[in-house]
Amino acid sequence: MHRYIFGDVTLELIEGDITRQPDMEAIANAANAQLYAGGGVDGAIHRAAGPGLEKEAHPLGPLKPGEAVITGGHNLPNKYVIHCLGPVYNRDIPHDTFLANCYKNALHLCEEKNIKSIAFPAISTGVFGYPPEEAAPVTLKAVIDAMPSLKSLQTIRVVLFGSRMHEIFREALKKLI
Ligand code: ADP
Repeated sequence: MHRYIFGDVTLELIEGDITRQPDMEAIANAANAQLYAGGGVDGAIHRAAGPGLEKEAHPLGPLKPGEAVITGGHNLPNKYVIHCLGPVYNRDIPHDTFLANCYKNALHLCEEKNIKSIAFPAISTGVFGYPPEEAAPVTLKAVIDAMPSLKSLQTIRVVLFGSRMHEIFREALKKLI
C-alpha cells in the first residue's frame, strides 16, 4: 500500500530524497535540539538550503523532543521547512509519544500557515536509533489520526530513504488500514 486517502487528504509513501520534492510546499526536517546543520537528513537539507537556513533556524531553538518550528526554505524548492526534534530511542521516554508529537505538531503548523502539502522523512530512524519497524506504525498512526481534522493540507508525503525503509512503511500502512 503506497497511498491512503481520507476525504480531501492523501497520504503517500514514496522512496526518495526529501531535498528533491519540488511539488511540496513544505518539507520536514529531523533536526537537532539546537537547530544547527548536522548529519543525516538534516545535513542534506541544510546543504541544499544554504547557510541562511541555519541562521534563521538556530535562534528558534533549543527544541524539546516532539517540538516543531517553521522557517523559510531558502535555496530549497520548497517554501517552508518544519524542523522537528525526534526522540532518541530508549532515552527520551515515552519515545512513541514524542515521535507522534513531531508529526502532530508539524501538521498543526501547516494548518496555521495554510500549507497545502508537506513531505516528511522518517524522523528518529537514523542516528536516533528508533527501529524502523517500530517507528513506522507510530508515524503513520499519528498522521492518519490527524487527517480527519485537516482543513488546508491536501497531501502528506512520507519520503523513505532506500527500498528497505519504503517496504517497512508500506507493510505498516497495510496493517493499519
Ligand atoms: P534522526 O537523528 O532523527 O534519526 P537521521 O537523519 O539520522 O535522523 O535519519 C532519519 C531518517 O532519514 C533515516 O531513515 C535516514 O535513512 C533518512 N534520510 C537520510 N537522508 C535522507 C534524505 N536525503 N531524504 C530522506 N530521508 C533521508
